[in-house]
Order: sequence, then structure tokens, then C-alpha cells
Amino acid sequence: MIADFLYRQPVEIHFGRGKFDGLPALLAEKGIRRALIVCGSHFAPKAEALAAAGQGVCGVYSHIQADPQLADVQAAAALASRLEADAIIGVGGGSAMDSAKFAAAIVDDFDSADAYFTGKRPFPARRLPVIAVPTTSGTGSEVTQVSVISRGEEKRTINDPAFMPALALVDPALGDTVPPHVVMCTGLDALAHALEGYWSRHHQPISDLMAVEAVRRIWANLERAWRDRTDTEACDEMAFAALLGGLSFALPKTAGCHACSYPLCEHFHISHGEACAFTLDSFVLANADDRLACLCRAAGVGTVEDLAARIREWKAMAGLRTRLRDLGDTPPRQLAREAAAHPLMGNNPVPMDEDALCALFTALQ
Ligand code: NAD
Repeated sequence: MIADFLYRQPVEIHFGRGKFDGLPALLAEKGIRRALIVCGSHFAPKAEALAAAGQGVCGVYSHIQADPQLADVQAAAALASRLEADAIIGVGGGSAMDSAKFAAAIVDDFDSADAYFTGKRPFPARRLPVIAVPTTSGTGSEVTQVSVISRGEEKRTINDPAFMPALALVDPALGDTVPPHVVMCTGLDALAHALEGYWSRHHQPISDLMAVEAVRRIWANLERAWRDRTDTEACDEMAFAALLGGLSFALPKTAGCHACSYPLCEHFHISHGEACAFTLDSFVLANADDRLACLCRAAGVGTVEDLAARIREWKAMAGLRTRLRDLGDTPPRQLAREAAAHPLMGNNPVPMDEDALCALFTALQ
């Protein structure tokens, strides 16, 4: 029997190698005449060239860094306001896309960025449309209502339906320059999205289909894409798989592995992808059941144990840290307490209390 479900996905998705070259025509088609590009330094030269050429781009804010800071989001929103931008284009990994979403929401009241960050004030009704352009194959932020922003050490995941980009422009060629370490971290983040969307307590049939397909493509292509950035077939597959991963968790939300990633990032300042990868194989084994075995068969993975073993191999191969002692000296009990208190832990299919999580982290010491 199929349980009732509601599926909604409002983002217009354009996918294809080289599609970014058609940005000016796309902006003209959408009636956008003054877009601000928000990006990190790796994309600054290309963004500046686009702004210099006009053609729908009026300016660039290129100071976004990993774990984006509210101060940068506020500065980007202030620039969009001053330039009278009519859209924001976020180009980069999750950090740039999440910054673009938040900046677009506060453009009319950027002085109150703190109040929006803390939730003391609801976001203004008017927002600029966002075009999300991923350059990593990981977060799926281009199709989610999530924005993860930090203020100093305080990192917040803000969920708001109006954070959904108007348009996602996924051009795998933009990822050709991503360093291999980032390829593996972001690829395992995409795998975590697909698996967690699938095993979330709020999973549903359409998201499940995309999760299985995402795992199938990641299984076949992540290692190839990590080994050789000129393997365009594998890199394109990973860009598509990350998009599918985003679609598969956008409604069901993630679960235990992502809940654990928050204390790991906070205490050890590791990237989001590496933090998710740290416990992913442990959660694969903890959440093993008939449904997960079914996904593994459908995705061509083999068994649940094969999946966990391959995740461990990939981490070791790419030099991701796999032991708590390599990260720092926060005791497992403290990590477990913080992870158990995270709201996403409630989505995990197997209940994981503080003691169960302490055992999980202790096994990773
Ligand atoms: P990132 O955006 O922080 O980028 C990682 C690094 O790769 C950065 O140094 C960046 O400059 C570099 N980089 C990106 N593209 C490049 C390219 N084409 N060439 C060379 N270098 C490049 O990493 P990420 O994993 O994509 O995003 C992580 C952020 O996204 C975290 O803040 C995380 O919490 C958030 N996140 C958001 C969602 C969502 O739904 N909104 C989902 C998962 C994660």
C-alpha cells in the first residue's frame, strides 16, 4: 500500500555542460536586467568579466568563504540594495548559494540581518529571485529551502520555503576546477543526502525514487570523478547525482548522520561534507533494514555491508579523517549529547539516544 504523500518542487531546473554560457540569454528571457553575482574568490574573475560585459549582470560580491558568515551575507545584501539589483545569482558550492538565498531575503532590511538570523524577526515579504548555480557536486542547495549561515562560531540552519531558488542552473563544467579532496567530501555529502532522504521518517515515494537513482550514479562515478577531473562523463554524472540527492532530501529532510555533523563541524572546524562522511558508514549499518537492502540492490551496490565498506574505502583513499583522535579531544559523550539534542536526530529511522550515539562515537575514537 502506498502511504499518502505531498510532493512539491517549485524550482525551474536547467541542466547541461556549457549551459552557464547561456546566462545572458536566460536573464533576458526572465526579464532580469540587473543581477548581482554572489560567489567566492575562485569565481571572481569570471563574474567580474560578466559584470563588465553588462548583459544582465550589474555587480559582483566575491568574498564568500566556506562556512559563510552573516557579515558577508549582509554586505552582499547591502550591495544588491545599492545597485538596485533585481535578482541574485549565487555561484559556488553550498556556501555561495546559501549566502545568495539569505542576502536575497534581507535586501530591503539588511541592517537587521542579526534579527533575521536569530529568528527574532520574520523575513520581509519582498525578496529578490535567486538563481542558484552549483560548482560543487554535493549540497543540492540549488533545490532546497535551506540556508546554512554562521555568525562567528554560531552556525544556523534556517529553513524557509521562500529560500527556494527561482531557478537552478547546473553546468557540470563549472566544477572542473574543484580540488579532489573537495570532490570526495562533497560527493559523500550528496550520498548522505540521498541515503538520509530515503531512510528519513518523512520519506515518500517520489523522493525515494530520486534517492535510489542518486545512489546508483554516485556508486558508479564518485571514484572516477575524484581520480580524474577530465573524466567529463563521471563529473557530469556526479553533478546530476548531487541534484537528485538534493531533490531526495528537500522534503523528507536529513536524519542522524547530518545531526551528528553539527557538533563535528562546531568542535573540529571540518567541512560539512567531511563531517557527514565521518559517521555515514556507521549510520548505514545502524539503519540497516529491508528497505535499505532494497535500495542497495536497486542501485547496484550489493549489500548494505558493501555500501558501508565502500564509504570507508573512499574516505581512506581521499585522506578524509576517520578517527576522533585525528580531529581533536572532545569526548564522545559530549558529541553524543549535542547530536542527540539536534532536531534532525528525530528523523532517524532507528531511535538513537545519547547512549547509542556515545557508543557510535566511541567506536570511532
Ligand atoms: P563550499 O561551498 O564551502 O566550497 C568548498 C570549497 O571549494 C571552498 O573553498 C570553495 O571556494 C571551493 N570551490 C567551490 N567551487 C569551486 C570550483 N569550481 N573550483 C575551485 N574551488 C571551488 O562547500 P560545499 O560542500 O559545496 O558547501 C558546504 C556548505 O553548504 C556548508 O555551509 C553546508 O552547511 C551547506 N549545505 C547547505 C545545504 C542546503 O540545502 N542549503 C545542504 C548541505 C550543505
